[in-house]
Amino acid sequence: MNKHCFASDNYSGVTPEAWRALEVANAGVADPYGDDEWTLKAADKIRDVFETDCEVFFAFNGTASNALALAAMGQSFNSVLAHELSHVETSECGAPEFFSNGSKLLTVKGFAGKVDVPGIEALATERTDMHFPRPKVISLTQCTEMGTIYTPDELGQLRDLANRLDMHLHMDGARFVNAVAAMNLSPKELSWEAGVDVLCLGGSKNGMAIGDAIVFFNKNLAKDFDYRCKQAGQLASKMRYISAPWVAMLEDEIWLKHAAHANHCAQKLSTELTQIEGIDLIVPTEANGVFVNMRADIAARLRAKGWKFYDFIGEGGMRLMCSWATTQDEIDVFCEDARGE
Ligand SMILES: *Cc1c(COP(=O)(O)O)cnc(C)c1O
Repeated sequence: MNKHCFASDNYSGVTPEAWRALEVANAGVADPYGDDEWTLKAADKIRDVFETDCEVFFAFNGTASNALALAAMGQSFNSVLAHELSHVETSECGAPEFFSNGSKLLTVKGFAGKVDVPGIEALATERTDMHFPRPKVISLTQCTEMGTIYTPDELGQLRDLANRLDMHLHMDGARFVNAVAAMNLSPKELSWEAGVDVLCLGGSKNGMAIGDAIVFFNKNLAKDFDYRCKQAGQLASKMRYISAPWVAMLEDEIWLKHAAHANHCAQKLSTELTQIEGIDLIVPTEANGVFVNMRADIAARLRAKGWKFYDFIGEGGMRLMCSWATTQDEIDVFCEDARGE
């Protein structure tokens, strides 16, 4: 077991609440393929938490959720516009293109992992002839791959653009709850009220073992989505083991509590690290990730002590992710090791 870890929030285990829910759901028999009481309840809970009548499906992970959602939002001759650092572009092995039978992903640059209206508009209107795929979806990540957060206002501007261009808005919400906790807003304010059509709601990074929810606020797009899930091998036979932890995590805002803890840890880590000579923030710490430039000798010393973290963010850029399970002690020891104490 690796104790020294800020590599990713999915290195953490399962929260006690989610674990307990599995034990409860394990008692006795239940209908398969999502016809069980937990799956119905989990979908109802999501409708409660988002305060709207949306359609909810569950898949095994975020890659499948994003890929199938994007496939449902356009046709094979359409394109999906996303940030160049987006998970759908960099980390899904072409699954969105594969499951959409070829919808092309087109990428834009943008500060701090965010797409903006001028960037998307320029790309979407660059070509209008039939020899180039027709733009149909804007895909956003909340929180972004740089740990930043789209405000409701920024989302609203992208929604207006999508309306003007007859496009849909997809949100990869692998860390959606971290954004909700950090902004102290309600889930609806960062999703359908701001114009999101489909949200892929992540569970694993918030402390569940497996299973993401695909939430269709635009219910027209959900037509036959159950067939898509089944064909893609994403319909769990024993669905209760995916859905029961969702019920438990959405109870009494427990998912928010865990996300707020992760965010709080990142704030502490960020504050302490930036007092060390040779470490500077690349982007502000807004959620549960700290992105820094770090002098090579400091990074080498930390790695020699067994600390794990990614350095795929540009030249010298390091990503340090906090989770529901991060402790004050880990933060203290990491900072001591960084200082060379
Ligand atoms: C982790 C993550 C996902 C989901 O990845 P899976 O490994 O397929 O569950 C999706 N989007 C982002 C931004 C992520 O960080």
